[in-house]
Amino acid sequence: MSWLEKSASRSGGGVIKLKPDPPSFYAEKRRALNDIDSRSQWVVGLGSRIDFWRDRWAGTRSIQEALHLTDRELRGCSSRASSIIGNGHIYCPPAILELIQKAGLSINDMKRAKVDTLIWLPELKGDFSTASAFNAIRNKGVRVHWHRAVWNRFTHPKLAANAWKLYSGRAATDLAAKKKGIQLASKCKLCRQQEEDLNHLLWQCDFVDKTWNWLAGKFKFRAGFRNSRDAMSRS
Ligand SMILES: [Zn+2]
Repeated sequence: MSWLEKSASRSGGGVIKLKPDPPSFYAEKRRALNDIDSRSQWVVGLGSRIDFWRDRWAGTRSIQEALHLTDRELRGCSSRASSIIGNGHIYCPPAILELIQKAGLSINDMKRAKVDTLIWLPELKGDFSTASAFNAIRNKGVRVHWHRAVWNRFTHPKLAANAWKLYSGRAATDLAAKKKGIQLASKCKLCRQQEEDLNHLLWQCDFVDKTWNWLAGKFKFRAGFRNSRDAMSRS
């Protein structure tokens, strides 16, 4: 059953109405396909399976992409890469060689094999896997010093989510509300001395200081820290 059929819903009278996917679905699908395509390259055998203009075979871009040619401009261009290969060797007419060079590509970047094969560049062996694709196209953020303390096998996901909120400064404090333009008179609910912000709540408040000291006594570690980096070095 295709994805379109899966999205079908049965209405009265046994008529099946197909719910079209929203336009954003197609945009996302196109973006994902582009991400995958840009990390794939043909290894050239006889070249008969490879589109000379539209496929990536002389590097990680096709001639179409490198020369910014539209589908309309390439209408009728149906040459295969096999047109420059004979008896397993490359015979490239000077005009075509010049075109390839003009595109910033190089025949030297061709990968050769016995048969035409599309390979996945992020993997050494060229084999595609969804895990490898996810890793290649996901957005990689900056690695923070606390990631192992939060995301690990022994911290419950619910606790990890709360810890992530605290470490990344996303807790709903008075200061956070003020930054969003909300006018309020802020006061720490614990000591009633200072304004409420995350730094105060976790490290500077007298009440919190006493709590850390109590915990340090219970779990036998040295207290007296004033930030998360310092605290982690004591645990
Ligand atoms: Zn306080």
